[in-house]
Amino acid sequence: MALLKLNPSFKDYLWGGHRLVEEYHKKYEGEILAESWELSCHPDGSSVLASGEETGMSLPDYIEKRGKEILGENCKRFLNFPVLIKLIDAKDNLSIQVHPNNAYALKNEGQYGKTEMWYIMDCKPGAYLYYGFKEEITKEEFAKRIKEDTLLEVLNKVYVQKGDILFIEAGTIHAIGKDIVIAEIQQNSNVTYRVYDYGRVGKDGKKRDLHIEKALAVTERVPIIKSKSSYPHVAECDYFRVDRLYLDGTITNQLSGVIGKESFAHILIMEGEGTIQCGDTILSYQKGDSFFLEAGSGTYEVKGSCEALVTTIGEKANPIRIGVDIGGTMTKIGLINTEQQLFAKTSFQTNAKQPWKEVVKEIGKQIQNLLQQENIALDQCIGVGVGVPGTVDKKNGIVLYSNNILWENVPLQKELEQYLPIPIAIANDADCALLGEMAGGSGKQYEDVVMLTLGTGVGGGIAIDGKLYDGKLMGGSELGHCVIVEDGEPCSCGRKGCLEAYVSATALIRDGKRSMEQEKESVLWEKCKYDCNNLTPEMIFEGEQEGDRISKELLERYRKKLATGIANLVNLFRPQLIVIGGGISIQGENLLAPIREMLETMCFGKAHGELPELKIASLGNDAGMIGASNLIFC
Ligand SMILES: [Zn+2]
Ligand SMILES: [Zn+2]
Repeated sequence: MALLKLNPSFKDYLWGGHRLVEEYHKKYEGEILAESWELSCHPDGSSVLASGEETGMSLPDYIEKRGKEILGENCKRFLNFPVLIKLIDAKDNLSIQVHPNNAYALKNEGQYGKTEMWYIMDCKPGAYLYYGFKEEITKEEFAKRIKEDTLLEVLNKVYVQKGDILFIEAGTIHAIGKDIVIAEIQQNSNVTYRVYDYGRVGKDGKKRDLHIEKALAVTERVPIIKSKSSYPHVAECDYFRVDRLYLDGTITNQLSGVIGKESFAHILIMEGEGTIQCGDTILSYQKGDSFFLEAGSGTYEVKGSCEALVTTIGEKANPIRIGVDIGGTMTKIGLINTEQQLFAKTSFQTNAKQPWKEVVKEIGKQIQNLLQQENIALDQCIGVGVGVPGTVDKKNGIVLYSNNILWENVPLQKELEQYLPIPIAIANDADCALLGEMAGGSGKQYEDVVMLTLGTGVGGGIAIDGKLYDGKLMGGSELGHCVIVEDGEPCSCGRKGCLEAYVSATALIRDGKRSMEQEKESVLWEKCKYDCNNLTPEMIFEGEQEGDRISKELLERYRKKLATGIANLVNLFRPQLIVIGGGISIQGENLLAPIREMLETMCFGKAHGELPELKIASLGNDAGMIGASNLIFC
């Protein structure tokens, strides 16, 4: 929790003036000051801390040091810092320009588009700006007028006064006119397509570049229709929310607000003077000052006179998440909605021989295709989660090692960001399956859950207090490789007697083959067409139902070993729920009912201890995708 004063970064564009220095107290030595970037993490100029222990540190460095959590929950969906807030002193006219929307910018520029908002802080009488078209025009006329320098004739000229607000959605043609001071709140993007620059030349004596082709592609050639109200906010969109604070200094001279966990807040003082307090920090303010409040800062108080804009980040409406489940033979991709429903999916074959770069590229391509097929723009998606069969460094997004797909030190997150510039998180696939079951399957409404997946191997995941438990050290837990028989059966991990060596599908088949060799009368021979290499776990479960003696013995031993493993987990964690997933889990109650009985005597405390519920995973093969898509919330 912190309240910090910020110093801006300065821009001396040719159309600037002196008002930001003379009236807004900007400490700037140069000749002309066009813009001060008040809240910025942009590489072209970032804000610098002007109070507190880290005075002098840049804002991006401070966020890096303190952790992204200080930006709040609602910022998790942004790959980069979401907004850029500027003061603009237009002594002269700015160029006529347009910004692309996210869909176009993500596709063609590899970054977000730009929607912006203007608050007219001051202007001379008769000042105006351009905002959209007067009437709808054709693309041909638009192009012709740019060429013949007659574009201004068809633009919507708006006379402005102090306090006016204009919301400039991406695709709207616009220009700030001369003699206006503006507070601009915008998406943190720098994609501008200039269409007309009054024929001016820059300091280098050259005309600035125009971007006619791109502007023609992105400009909405219709008059602006105000489609929705932002009331009670000054402005509200997917990218920022702006509110106004007002104290006249006499009738009202004190107010307080609360900064919750959802978002940080930026306060821009446009008029007045006084003090702002949060916790033990009290700072004085004057016209032109900027303050940053970390998410979760709690109550703050403003005393004095002031007119200020408070910018926060709201929730996104109807967000979509993307879940990817990379497997040894198949990679699955799904789109998940807020109800944790997987509403569209696709898959493609993968194998250990494919170079990892190709696999990642294919994931990027398949996601783009799936979104296109479902008519969903990438910017509707708040993140991608990827489950990987192996050991991962979640923090840095690196797959350290995967036995199944033979990956070693693969920078998966960085690589995938090239194709999908939105937040990406990765985790072990068994952890993803657990997350999925907890989000939308058998584990819903439980806080402490342990999951075992009984497949080719045995995976597992642990959730405590509703959160995945990873341990502090790299490598994570491996429930399938807890030893239940000292010097027992050899395991795929190179050790002996692991749970996996007894309760994986592979182990059950191994034991089945051994028994068949000794019992030539078993129905299993008939089931596997007299070749024991055809044996499957399903055949053994069928055999048991049909009364086959060796099938019954096999599964009795199998359940006993599984119960031993589960009893150990109960004694370790005493969770509320144990979920069983993986191929073997399709046997359902047939598998679980006898184990439940065994657990009553096998767990410590017997009747005196509470036994967890034992359930089959309900999401099947979708659990991994649904769980992965929830990683961005972790
Ligand atoms: Zn603009
Ligand atoms: Zn093992």
